[in-house]
Amino acid sequence: MTRTVYLNGEYLPEAEAKVSIFDRAFLMADGVYEVTSVLDGKLIDFDGHAKRLERSLNELDMPKPKAFDDLLEIHRELVRLNGIEEGMIYLQITRGAPDDRDFVFPDPETTEPTLVLFTQNKPGLANNPVAKKGIKVISIEDVRWGRRDIKTVQLLYPSMGKMMAKKAGADDAWMVEDGFVTEGTSNNAYIIKGNTIITRALSNDILHGITRAAVLRFAREAQMKVEERNFTIDEVKDADEAFVTSASTFVMPVVEIDGAAIGGGVPGERALRLREIYLEESLKAAV
Ligand code: PMP
Repeated sequence: MTRTVYLNGEYLPEAEAKVSIFDRAFLMADGVYEVTSVLDGKLIDFDGHAKRLERSLNELDMPKPKAFDDLLEIHRELVRLNGIEEGMIYLQITRGAPDDRDFVFPDPETTEPTLVLFTQNKPGLANNPVAKKGIKVISIEDVRWGRRDIKTVQLLYPSMGKMMAKKAGADDAWMVEDGFVTEGTSNNAYIIKGNTIITRALSNDILHGITRAAVLRFAREAQMKVEERNFTIDEVKDADEAFVTSASTFVMPVVEIDGAAIGGGVPGERALRLREIYLEESLKAAV
């Protein structure tokens, strides 16, 4: 089945969806995105993703091409057209395509934003076998720009980080700045010590994960303690458990960092329990 995608008001076969070479995202990474997961054919945390998208657009002074309800409708229509039971919807908004390359933002009166959405079919996403054995990470320096709270398509360094991890025989990288972990290349990072979950506090240094917000809420409801503070790689090595969160991996246990086993090198029971709770609760609230 050929994938049907959405581009600027039209549902098209993927090969027919074309964007200008002058698009600001192509030339300047001047675009923002969101990834919403689909379970049982329904959208997980759509509200949170739509709100963060709005915030990213505001921070970059980028026009919003569609209202919340329209975006929800497009997401649902793509799920339907592509028969997605489990997977993701990728959404991207760019500042559009002016008629030439220029650093100055184009006039929003004459240059319309580009809106693209496509589905990624991932059967077995919730039951991902990787969660049963956990992932290995390496630590790398965080050399990204200072507005990581804005979800831009400027993903070259996270992409390089994944490659560094792959080369080192690991699955992902945790980034470190001034001696403290910021986050994973495409996820938020956590350690667990006793009954306490430790994760970096929200600021411009990290993306404000939608999964993070939900997982911390569920953790508190399950009587776990949450400390939002900086932590070091030494603390990670000394932790009982570690995990990451993101819309596409939910809660994923981390069992090794820089070759050192965390909590005996197997997924921790609290991380696995949080994964279960997250999947259960977010499915109940899915739209
Ligand atoms: N941090 C970074 C750098 C990310 O790219 C992502 C996923 N896009 C996250 C955290 C997790 O955010 P969310 O839970 O909203 O997917």
